[in-house]
Amino acid sequence: MEYLDKNIYEIHEALANKKVTPLDLVKEALDKIKNDTNNAFEYVYEKEAIKLAEELSKQEVEVDNPLWGIPFAIKDNFSTKDIPTTASSKLLEGYLPPFDAEVYTRLLNKKAIPIAKTTLDELAMGGTGSSGHLGKTFNPWDKSKTRMIGGSSCGSAAACAAGIVPFAIGSDTGDSVRKPASYSALVGFKPTWGRISRFGLFPFAPSLDTVAYFTRNVKDSALLLNVLGGHDIKDTTSSSIPIEDYQSLKDKPYKATIIKEIYDDLKDKTIKDAFDKLVSELKQKGYKINTVSIGFDLAKAIYSCYYIISSAEATSNNANLDGIKFGVNKEAETYEEMLFKVRTEGFSDRIRRRFVIGSISLLEENQQEIYLRALRCRRVIVETFNKILESSDAIILPASPTIAPLFGDDIPKKSFAKDAMISDNYLAFANLGGYPSITLPLGFEDEMPFGVNITSHHFTEAKLLKIAQTVEQITGLKDLSKK
Ligand code: GLN
Repeated sequence: MEYLDKNIYEIHEALANKKVTPLDLVKEALDKIKNDTNNAFEYVYEKEAIKLAEELSKQEVEVDNPLWGIPFAIKDNFSTKDIPTTASSKLLEGYLPPFDAEVYTRLLNKKAIPIAKTTLDELAMGGTGSSGHLGKTFNPWDKSKTRMIGGSSCGSAAACAAGIVPFAIGSDTGDSVRKPASYSALVGFKPTWGRISRFGLFPFAPSLDTVAYFTRNVKDSALLLNVLGGHDIKDTTSSSIPIEDYQSLKDKPYKATIIKEIYDDLKDKTIKDAFDKLVSELKQKGYKINTVSIGFDLAKAIYSCYYIISSAEATSNNANLDGIKFGVNKEAETYEEMLFKVRTEGFSDRIRRRFVIGSISLLEENQQEIYLRALRCRRVIVETFNKILESSDAIILPASPTIAPLFGDDIPKKSFAKDAMISDNYLAFANLGGYPSITLPLGFEDEMPFGVNITSHHFTEAKLLKIAQTVEQITGLKDLSKK
């Protein structure tokens, strides 16, 4: 009997009814990891997980704690004390963090069992799941291994989608959980910026970074927010607004908004039809759905603005990866020489490209024209979306205009060109604005999944999750995995 392809509450029930023990679950997970061919893992907690499970198996099940004894995976850009943590970068090989990330501590306190650190695009900078030092991570839904699962949280998505863990932690700076979720029939959720402590998450672009995660249904997502959300004294940017009970809100006919330019950019008929059908079913439930235009230029600016700001922040926040404080040491006469060697050999060219773009935009002579202009552009984008979300409960759109792309199609050739693939790159608006945002399954094309994304105003996660649950009810798509 398998359990790990079920959702958290189902596994909890099996534990509470003594149908299975934490040790059985850990053995099942380790077994599946051994046979997995998706290249999703950086480090597997073989001994540690067995030890923890053995201890738990001797104790009484905590019936009020659904996470008790549940195996999970966590992206390898979270600090885990004395457990190798590389962020899938050659530069960090052998690094053992001296402390635990806050989300990890909270999960350990709930007696959830870490089973693996998962692969990512190097330093979380990427969307293809192919740029980490272990190479490509594959999509369990595509047995020919030609399609990506997307990134940067590729390994966490693959572990959850393959039925190895019922939930997995990732991070979302632009779309890194919400896009892979669309490609792998999972629920991918990022809360409001500051809702979950980022302590121990490697910074990519701190003004955009959010702890985010994959589950198999919306209810599990809500449960995790109740555990992970809330102020943390170690992260001064974490909010002290109290958390709510994210599972209890009553459904009512909400108002949702479609953004015209993003919708109009959709070309895939199956995805468009599935989305239109969802919209009409929401209307039948009493939802009011309107379409708002933000203008082509603004829609197009989202990704460029994101790219400049995230690259600039990444450049300054990763300056500590110099081979002395962090990273593999190299023989060198001077600090500059060391930096040059370590960063040339340690980073892939995709990372170096981001740091070059970040450095150029931060140069004193360019700051006004590039970096500060991007900040002003961010302000216009955020004011536009704030206004929409003040008069509407949520923005709803397909999470991606396509099913998972083929590897090789991974570097969009036209990303800054006139038809800027708006519908492929718009999700970063939720990071620019710090809004909570969730992707969940919407349909299938050629046996590959695609998702719908819903975003709401700051700290309205309870409402957002409720709307998502209504969508989940309509589509009937939940608790999915692919062996
Ligand atoms: N795909 C986006 C990028 O490459 C988002 C990355 C992320 O959210 N970590 O920048």
